[in-house]
Order: sequence, then structure tokens, then C-alpha cells
Amino acid sequence: MPHAYDDQNIFAKILRGEIPNDTVIETEHTLAFRDIGPQAPVHVLVIPKGPYVSYDHFAAEASEAEIVDFARVSARVIAEAGIGLGEGGQGYRVISNAGSHGTQEVPHYHLHVVGGRALGRMLA
Ligand code: 5GP
Repeated sequence: MPHAYDDQNIFAKILRGEIPNDTVIETEHTLAFRDIGPQAPVHVLVIPKGPYVSYDHFAAEASEAEIVDFARVSARVIAEAGIGLGEGGQGYRVISNAGSHGTQEVPHYHLHVVGGRALGRMLA
């Protein structure tokens, strides 16, 4: 079944500038911004600007330029937050929820970058 993208989802509205956001990094293909309900001192969402629903949709159908940019922006978010192991940070978690079993609330692919405290074994 093809991935059906709903362009009325809240992150699509953020990308169109219809809803404000607290931007951390913006590039040609990617936007990183702070989660409105942070679960840790660092809680940043990284999203591609293209209309992808989930990790599998993005990874299968995005261009190499989009995928590389997304990965590099995610790494910059981690580095600039001081939580990356390469910066002597104490670590972090990246997670992407998909669909009903994955408890995805916003149907635009996003990576949660969470850190700044000991997280425990699961991010519920
Ligand atoms: P999901 O459950 O889809 O993986 O996560 C969606 C995330 O988006 C949640 O952590 C929620 O706090 C965040 N979120 C929902 N609406 C907004 C919004 O309008 N602005 C921002 N910055 N984050 C939002």
C-alpha cells in the first residue's frame, strides 16, 4: 500500500510557516526544532522538508541528498547540544515512532533526539 501523506498534519503546517516553531537548525532539506512537550532537557525533532510519513517511507523513497542532509543535521543537533560521545557528552537516544503500534501522533516522519539526563531503558 502506498504511503498517503496528509498535508494538514502539524509539521506540514510548521514547514509552511503557518505555525511557529523554535528552530535549532534549518537547511535546504531538513528542519530541526524543539519539541513543544520536552521529555528531557534536550528534546529536538528533526524532520525532512519532503512529504514523508515514516522512517520506512523516508529511507525507501527520499533522495540521497535528503537522506545525507537529514543524517548530518541530526548529528549537528547532537553535537551542538553537547550530548554526543564525540564531544565528551554522556549520550542520548534517537527514536522514531511509526503508525499505531509505534504510537506515532504526527504523521510526518520525525526523529526525536532526546538527552541531557539518564533516560532509562525505554522512551514511552
Ligand atoms: P510522535 O508521537 O508522533 O512520535 O511525536 C510527536 C511529537 O510532536 C510529540 O513529542 C509532541 O510533543 C510534538 N508536537 C506536537 N505538536 C507540536 C507542535 O505544534 N510543535 C512542536 N514543536 N512539537 C509538537
